[in-house]
Amino acid sequence: MQAIKGTTRLLGVIGYPVEHSLSPIMHNAAIAHMNLDYVYVPFPIKPEDLEVAIAGFAAIGLVGFNITIPHKQAIIPLLTEVSPVAKAVGAVNTVFSTSEGFCGTNTDVEGFLAPLDKNRDWSQTVAVILGNGGASRAVVAGCAQLGCASVRVVGRNQDRLNQFLNSWSNSLSVNLSIHLWEELPDFISQTDLLVNTTPIGMYPHVEASPVDVGVMEKLPLGACVYDLIYTPNPTKFLRQAQKAGARTIDGLEMLVQQGAAALQIWLQQPVPVDIMRQSLQNYLGFRNSH
Ligand code: NAP
Repeated sequence: MQAIKGTTRLLGVIGYPVEHSLSPIMHNAAIAHMNLDYVYVPFPIKPEDLEVAIAGFAAIGLVGFNITIPHKQAIIPLLTEVSPVAKAVGAVNTVFSTSEGFCGTNTDVEGFLAPLDKNRDWSQTVAVILGNGGASRAVVAGCAQLGCASVRVVGRNQDRLNQFLNSWSNSLSVNLSIHLWEELPDFISQTDLLVNTTPIGMYPHVEASPVDVGVMEKLPLGACVYDLIYTPNPTKFLRQAQKAGARTIDGLEMLVQQGAAALQIWLQQPVPVDIMRQSLQNYLGFRNSH
C-alpha cells in the first residue's frame, strides 16, 4: 500500500455496523495495484448522524463512497441526484462527488448481472427470488433488465411481500408476483433461475439452507441456481443445487463486480477486477481457515 500523504484522496464505505465490510480489502488492493494516491476507509455512521456525516464528507472533499445497511435508502434525500437504476431499485450503494454535489447510483444490479450470460435469450425464463429485502430489489431489477418472462418473489411475511410488490408501482417491465414459502413447491419445477437473497446459510450458520433437498430436486434440468452469499463458498444451498444437476453461481462475483463498477465511477478509468477478486479470495480463504 502507498504511504498516506498530504495529497492522498479519500474513498470509503459507510454503514452501521461496518466492521464486517470486505470493501476496504478489495478497493485498497486495486488502489495499491494501480499505484494511485487514494485510500479507502470504513466509516461507522449511526443513522442519526447520517446527515451531518454527509455534510462532513462534502467539506473534506471525499471523492466517493459506498453505502451499506442501514443507509441505502435513507441517503437518497441527502443527494443532489440519483441515477435511474438507483431510483428503480429504491436504494443507493455508490455515491460520487460532482461539482453540483454528491450523486448516487446502484452498482448491485450490474454486479448481480455480471456472471450471467447476457447473450442468452432470457425471454422464456422464470426467475424465482427467495427473500424480499434490499438485495432482492437489485435482483428483481436485474431480472427485468435481462428480459425474464416472469419473476416470482418468495417471502415469509405477507405484509412485507405486499409492500415489496406495491413499491415498484408498475415501474418494472416484467411480470412480478409474490408468494409465501409454502407455495414454492408448487412452482419449483417451472423455475429456470433460482436466486437466494436471504442470509440463510451464511457463515456461521453454514448447515442451513433456504430450501429442502426435496424441493431442490424438483428443479428442471439446466436450471441455474445463484446464491448471493459469498461465505461459506459454496453454501449448502449451492451444494444441494450441484447435486441436483443445476449450474451454480456464488455471491463473490457479484461482490467483486459491484465494487469494480463503483471504483471505475470514482477513478474514471478501467480497474483491475482480477486483483479485487483475488484479494477477497485470499482474505476469505485466510479467514475461513482460522
Ligand atoms: P435484508 O434487506 O435484511 O433482506 C433479507 C431478506 O431475507 C428479507 O426478505 C428477510 O425476510 C429474509 N430472511 C431473513 N432471514 C430469514 C429466514 N430465517 N427465513 C426466511 N426469510 C428470511 O438483507 P439484504 O441486504 O437483502 O442481504 C441479504 C443477503 O444477501 C445477505 O446474506 C447478504 O450478505 C447478501 N448480499 C450479497 C451481495 C453480494 O454482492 N454478493 C450483495 C448484497 C447482499 P423479512 O423481510 O421477512 O425479514
